[in-house]
Amino acid sequence: MNEVITPIHKIKRLSAQLANQIAAGEVVERPASVIKELLENSLDAQADTIGIEIEQGGIRRIRVLDNGIGIGRQDLELALSRHATSKISSVEDLESVASLGFRGEALSSISSVSRLELRSRTKDDETGWRIIGDGRENPAEAVPTAHPIGTSIDIRDLFFNTPARRKFLRAEKTEFGHIEEVVKRLSLSRFDLSFVLKHNQKEVLNLRAAKTTTDKSQRVAKICGQAFIDNAIFINMESSGWQLSGWLGLPTYTRSQSDLQYFYVNGRMVRDKLVTHAIRQAYQDVIYHGRHPAYVLFLSLDPALVDVNAHPTKHEVRFRDSRLVHGFIYRTLEDAIAQIQVGHTPAEETFVNTINVAESTTPNHRSPTSNHSSAHSSASKPSKAAHSSPRQQQNLGLNVAEQIASYAALRATTSAKPTSVGRSSPPNPLPLHQDEEKPPLGFAIAQLQGVYILAENDKGMIVVDMHAAHERISYERMKRAHDKEEIKTQPLLLPITVHVSEREVQAADEFQAVFSEFGFDVQSMGPETLVARQVPAILREANVDALIRDVLSDLISYGNSERIRAHRNELLATMACHGSVRANRRLTVLEMNALLRDMERTERSGQCNHGRPTWVQLTMKDLDKMFMRGQ
Ligand code: ADP
Ligand code: MG
Repeated sequence: MNEVITPIHKIKRLSAQLANQIAAGEVVERPASVIKELLENSLDAQADTIGIEIEQGGIRRIRVLDNGIGIGRQDLELALSRHATSKISSVEDLESVASLGFRGEALSSISSVSRLELRSRTKDDETGWRIIGDGRENPAEAVPTAHPIGTSIDIRDLFFNTPARRKFLRAEKTEFGHIEEVVKRLSLSRFDLSFVLKHNQKEVLNLRAAKTTTDKSQRVAKICGQAFIDNAIFINMESSGWQLSGWLGLPTYTRSQSDLQYFYVNGRMVRDKLVTHAIRQAYQDVIYHGRHPAYVLFLSLDPALVDVNAHPTKHEVRFRDSRLVHGFIYRTLEDAIAQIQVGHTPAEETFVNTINVAESTTPNHRSPTSNHSSAHSSASKPSKAAHSSPRQQQNLGLNVAEQIASYAALRATTSAKPTSVGRSSPPNPLPLHQDEEKPPLGFAIAQLQGVYILAENDKGMIVVDMHAAHERISYERMKRAHDKEEIKTQPLLLPITVHVSEREVQAADEFQAVFSEFGFDVQSMGPETLVARQVPAILREANVDALIRDVLSDLISYGNSERIRAHRNELLATMACHGSVRANRRLTVLEMNALLRDMERTERSGQCNHGRPTWVQLTMKDLDKMFMRGQ
């Protein structure tokens, strides 16, 4: 790769070593890419314990030792030669590869740009065998050596013979950072494996195989930080062979960068535009603008529906039906986020759910007549219904004032006849006595500076930002009301003409339902022209032209668009904000308690419309720590 290329007019065959070095240019960018290849090989060899030793950011030395099936003596040389793989032998195999690597060029490439030593032993061998590779056609012959069953690969002086590439290496610390990230990603994809990672003889990671959800959470905490686990919920949703599980960061636990986002498709980590979009869309209503959600999620589906080897660096995937995947991820997460209710304690909580995504959304049962947009709306409803608790539904629509009234009425009856509130009475929305089981947000004690409500619950103290809380409650109520209502539409005296591409006109036709659901009337006028004759009244001031374009671009890329809803929600949020209890208003204890109860039954009430938290818990333990009690 480093040779100066002078024009030549004779075609020559490249030497094996040079061909391998060229291939190495694609496969081996830096020490971390070597680690990735080696670890994938160990996994494919069914290893469950892997040791990784790095020196000087991997530039000086990389050693990977595994307890996999090993490589037999007769295969050692082949392992180092190009286009040699034990993983596929036919084109059909390509269709359903479950293994991680199959290009058969990692070892040959690496050996052509480093000093590589491979040692291995299978269970049938009496001794281990050792071979040294330098990327040539015929590597030196294997010699016997002591080795346990499994394989170890020792790579020194990466890029020693390709100075141009060597120049691109960064500082030791940076290179090691990349290696660590590779190991972390992998360790999240395989909880059954044990890993030890050492850098310059110092242990950096030591992960034992994790079986239970608690063990797994501990591993996630080691990798993503304790704060993430403390602020995440565990989800596990399954539907007709599709599964989405993992840890979902609370909307109030966001990051300034998208650095804590791990998504796996059938065990392989991906960074995919479609997936990222679906997740962002699910968080859209609850996250602070410009912040990034944190998650560790695993999607599994029939391997025939996805190509995880679409891209050489393999971070992108190709889904057979990307719209379906987008919809499944979006709806599942949107639902899970809406369910994060006040009073739940993320660290301990494990909620396992099975959602009933309508049949039309899964590939095998898709009804021939359903189009994408109807699949969307018919699917989201049953799953919503399956989730919302009766308690939640029963209280829909009660406003604070009504609750205060009902609370007062209940108190009046109970104080008169205290025994009349028994098991047989209808469910009591507002617990009346301090000795009854306290509701999650407890009971109000006082109001602080006209801004915060202080309450006491079983765990300790709750502090509520009353404006933020009320804002979310009003907002959710307005959205519900708006969803239920007939959409008020506004015919346009002067229809708006939108010039778009042919593809976009087709999309507008195909997704008519998306527009009409919100009260838009958008029709094609020509091959590249759309005309809007009617818009929803609430959006009459919006930039309709731009909105339609953005919606079409979403529909084409992802098969659905939440932009109209998002736009509408933004307006509702502004209205909710203006209508909410202003700070500095004195509330009575009754009003404060009513607000707490209202929060408990409102979806997404842990954050205000801008993604700020609405309440915090200070446990007795937290308080004891503050005062250094019992230490
Ligand atoms: P690929 O993984 O794409 O097949 P590689 O060049 O990475 O190509 O590896 C070539 C072959 O060497 C593999 O197909 C496998 O048979 C063998 N191999 C490599 N690493 C290991 C290992 N750690 N344990 C067992 N076999 C291995
Ligand atoms: Mg490989």
